[in-house]
Amino acid sequence: MTPADLAFDRQHIWHPYTSMSEPLPCYPVVAARDTRLQLADGRELVDGMSSWWAAIHGYNHPRLNAAMHNQIAAMSHVMFGGITHPAAVALCRQLVAMTPAPLECVFLADSGSVAVEVAMKMALQYWQARGERRQRFLTLRRGYHGDTFAAMSVCDPQNSMHSLYEGYLPTHLFAREPQCAFGDAWHDEDINDFAALLEQHGSAVAAVILEPIVQGAGGMRFYHPRYLQRVRELCDQHGVLLIADEIATGFGRTGRLFACEHAAVVPDLICVGKALTGGTMTLSATLTTRAVADTISNGAAGCFMHGPTFMANPLACAVASESLAMLQENQWQQQVSAIETQLRQALLPLADHPAVVDARVLGAIGVIETHQPVDIAAIQAFFVERGVWIRPFGRLIYLMPPYIISREALTALTAAIAAALDRPQLFQKM
Ligand SMILES: *Cc1c(COP(=O)(O)O)cnc(C)c1O
Repeated sequence: MTPADLAFDRQHIWHPYTSMSEPLPCYPVVAARDTRLQLADGRELVDGMSSWWAAIHGYNHPRLNAAMHNQIAAMSHVMFGGITHPAAVALCRQLVAMTPAPLECVFLADSGSVAVEVAMKMALQYWQARGERRQRFLTLRRGYHGDTFAAMSVCDPQNSMHSLYEGYLPTHLFAREPQCAFGDAWHDEDINDFAALLEQHGSAVAAVILEPIVQGAGGMRFYHPRYLQRVRELCDQHGVLLIADEIATGFGRTGRLFACEHAAVVPDLICVGKALTGGTMTLSATLTTRAVADTISNGAAGCFMHGPTFMANPLACAVASESLAMLQENQWQQQVSAIETQLRQALLPLADHPAVVDARVLGAIGVIETHQPVDIAAIQAFFVERGVWIRPFGRLIYLMPPYIISREALTALTAAIAAALDRPQLFQKM
């Protein structure tokens, strides 16, 4: 990429959550292979992010590439209205088989946020079909469910999205975020706030929506499985649907295929995305039960009112199907548990570092929470200089590497984090 390309980028292209007038620096990546990103100047970076939870098998994988090539040769896309195709059927078969038995009706959508919109619309249509006016959602503080409007309305209310869009977003119900961490002792008071909200508003609540066990972008928090079990019990008592947003946690990241399995809880709807296509293309899915699907279908509308142009895009379905097959064959449990062991050894001792509030690891996720927020431009430059790609936010420096990462590459990532903690200039002054 030429300097002119980079200047054009700065001048004309939005990046995620970035100012157009004072953009943060961007690093030009021209290729990626296995667990390495290649910069335009030839330098290689070990990837600690899996491109936001997605690239679980690493980059440029020959099997994923072959799946896409084969599908391109047949057809890249065809509308899904009135048409079906082998790639969609194969993928949905796998999704139905992998998820708990009652989840058997699959809606394929374009992105994680849209999968959340779909789940919330399904919950609303479900109650409408039952003749009950239930239009509120109950969720947890510190949650993250995406950037579209309905998804935004159930994200943590403290962050700026709610104040920015106040008056426009529907006001939902927010329970205090779980305090009992994964692996700590359980105290039943932890569920009190959630239980009280459901007690008070239960008959107006269409569904509870939450990220099971791991709250991702809202703080990288790992909470007690008993909390999720109590949520399921309370939803059943109040006849409220439970939507599990497994977009970040799905497909093995937390050490279980789905994070709900840590609590042996089965939701009424589940959203998956991110790792679904092995990090190659955008695709998501919302699965629900026969009972929910039938109720919606027998309602006044007679159908579920959603159908994106690129629904079930064959190219995305084909590569997702191959990625799920690889996940099973690669023995992801061993991969994830080896990463977990190494992350524990390397990161947990950093909890004693004076710059650190907490160090935590679950599955192939490692988190260092610091006292001071990072100076993103400075710390990013430091990491790139050390040959690693780690993108912290706020007071969180975290890793979620591809499952295929080698011991040495993972050591490069954890060593870079340890080194960063010793440099106060990489953090904002409070
Ligand atoms: C990333 C994410 C989303 C949104 O997915 P997009 O593909 O970015 O729209 C929703 N929920 C959770 C838990 C996520 O991590």
